[in-house]
Formats: sequence, C-alpha cells, structure tokens
Amino acid sequence: MTVRFNDHLSSIPGYTPGVPKGHTAEDVASSDLAQLASNESPFAPLPEVVEAISKAAGAMNRYPDPSATLLRQRLADRHELEPGQVAVANGSCDFLLAAAEALLEPGAEIVYAWPSFSIYPNMAAMTGAREIRVPLKEDQSHDLEAMLDEITAATQIVIVCNPNNPTGTYLPFSEIASFVERVPDHVLVIIDEAYIEFQVHDDPSLSIGLVKEHPNVVLLRTFSKTHSLAGLRVGYALGSPAFKAAVDAVRQPFSVNALAQAAAVEALEHGDVMQRQIENQIRERVRVESAVADLGLNTTDSQANFSWISLGENGAEIEDAVVGVLAEAGIVVRAGRLLGGPGWLRVSYGTVDENDRFVAALGDAISIHG
Ligand SMILES: *Cc1c(COP(=O)(O)O)cnc(C)c1O
Repeated sequence: MTVRFNDHLSSIPGYTPGVPKGHTAEDVASSDLAQLASNESPFAPLPEVVEAISKAAGAMNRYPDPSATLLRQRLADRHELEPGQVAVANGSCDFLLAAAEALLEPGAEIVYAWPSFSIYPNMAAMTGAREIRVPLKEDQSHDLEAMLDEITAATQIVIVCNPNNPTGTYLPFSEIASFVERVPDHVLVIIDEAYIEFQVHDDPSLSIGLVKEHPNVVLLRTFSKTHSLAGLRVGYALGSPAFKAAVDAVRQPFSVNALAQAAAVEALEHGDVMQRQIENQIRERVRVESAVADLGLNTTDSQANFSWISLGENGAEIEDAVVGVLAEAGIVVRAGRLLGGPGWLRVSYGTVDENDRFVAALGDAISIHG
C-alpha cells in the first residue's frame, strides 16, 4: 500500500516558474540573464528596506506579530480605512487560496475571465467547486456583461483582474463601479489590483471607495510588483472585517514573516521613490510597445508592467521558436500558450538595457520565424 493523496490533487494546476530550467533564482540574479517572465520590479529593494530587514533579522528567534499590527495600521492610514478592513498575507496569492477555502465547496460556483491570472484555476480545483471561465472580448479585456450573465444563486466568488494579467488590459473605474452595483450581494467580488499603480486612467485610490460602500467587495494588492519585495512575499486585502476574519480563520496565525512585515512598513515610507520607479516603467511601456509595433506586431493596450504581444496569424506555430531565440539571447519571457493565450508572448519590462535587448532579439526571432 502506498500513501493515497486526495483525489482532487490531480486537478490542481502546477506553477511553471519564470526562472529557466536548470537555474536557481540566485544564479540567475548573478548572471546577465534578463528575467522578463514574472512581472517583478527590475529595481533592487531600497537600501533603507534592506536595512530594516537586517534589523528585524536580529530578532528572528521570536515569532512575528500575528496581527501585523503596525503594517496594517500604516496601510489603513494610507487608504483611509479602519485596520479591521486590512488583511495581510504571504503574497496576495495567499488570499486567493484562502478565499477559496473559506467560500467554495462542491456545488458552489466561481466566475472569472480567461485568460487571466494563473492561480485562479486552483481555487475551484482545490475545493471541488464549479468554475465558469468567461472569455475575454476581442480587445483582450474583461467582458463584464457576460460575467454578470453567469452569476447564479450558487455563485460565491467573481474575480476581476484589473489591469488583467496576462493581457495588460484595464477597465476604467466607472465600468468596475457599475459592475459592482449589479453583482448580487451574496457574491464576493474580488478585484485583483496587483498592477493598479501602472495604469494611467484613474487615481488608484478610487476603488477604495467601493470597499467602503460594498461589504462584498475585496481589493487585492501586493508589494511584489511595485515595491521590489516579490521574494519576501507580502500582499494585502482591503475589504470587510468579515472577509478578514474568514481568511484569518483558514490560515496559519503567522502568515507574514517578521522580515516581510518590517520591509513592507519601511517600503511604505518611500512613496516618492516608488512613484518614480512606476513612472520609469510606464515610459518603458511606451518605448517597448512602439518598438514592437515597428516590428509589425500588435500588442494590447497595456496598463501594466508587461506587454502582451500577438505573434500574428501563425503565432501559435512560431511561439516556441520565438521563445527559444529569446532564451538563446539570454532573455526569459512567457509563452502565451502557458497562460491560456497561444500565439502570444508576455514580456515584463526590465531595465532600459534589458528592454533594448528584448526588442532587438524579438526582431531577430521574427525575421527568422515570422
Ligand atoms: C503577481 C500577481 C499577484 C500577486 O502576487 P503575490 O506575489 O502573491 O502578491 C496577484 N494577482 C495577479 C494578477 C498577479 O499578477
């Protein structure tokens, strides 16, 4: 007899790391490989943040504050909410799995767009709930009307990823607000705002108002994409105290480690630097998208820190070859096939130099295979 794991494990999708096979994150960091596959910040953490981590490290023999009191207070102040409306997690992915555990079971339904974030399919798979994937519109943005049509008495969660990963598309706040108005109160609306700071249409604080008006709305945000802390794992959720209590109930008490709490608190002190980094990435977006257009390729209108590039008519056939040429040039990107979009590429913005290398290598790849 061997150990028999739960049957539903076989339906949980695995995660394909952005680091190429045979490499560790450490050897990639010390090589000149351009890591443009995971939408991380290309900027090293600030020296003050590293200093805060070192200081916290001296007290590592103690458990962290299970309530992350200081971090939650700072986030509450920043977003003009009560600390009870702020939950923190070991990366915002942690909330998605916790929300699944707290809200889904066989017979329940979850609605989300597709292609969208790769972790959403885990939520139904791990709980036995039914998932309804609503195809994106022609322009690769969410079809909110079609999503509303899929909501039933059994729906427990609807997720809107805005801007959407992997397509970069953004729905204006006004559309999100009217969607939220029309979703029945029994449905938890998760608005995944991992990239909200990179869009240029709305003030990112507008959606906080939805949390104040609708107890069934939760915003997910993260320190992974704008605060250079992807490796430490810190995310936060803004929502009702009931949501916080539910996700706290299904997780271990120490979800955010002491170093991560200290780093996030310090990072929040440097909003001006973060803002300059975000503006840099937005400038790189304009530059990369126009260079890609010069190669004769189309992109969506990205409002994130990555581009979603169509490889054209025979894109699905050349996708692997193009990714291969880029890899030989030391540039790691994501093949769309792995993200639900065959024939597309997702490339994160790196440093100016990395982006130049990417565009040049993409040009080579297209001239060979396009
Ligand atoms: C990166 C990302 C996250 C969160 O990542 P964490 O590192 O777990 O905070 C959440 N949602 C989307 C859509 C993302 O792309």
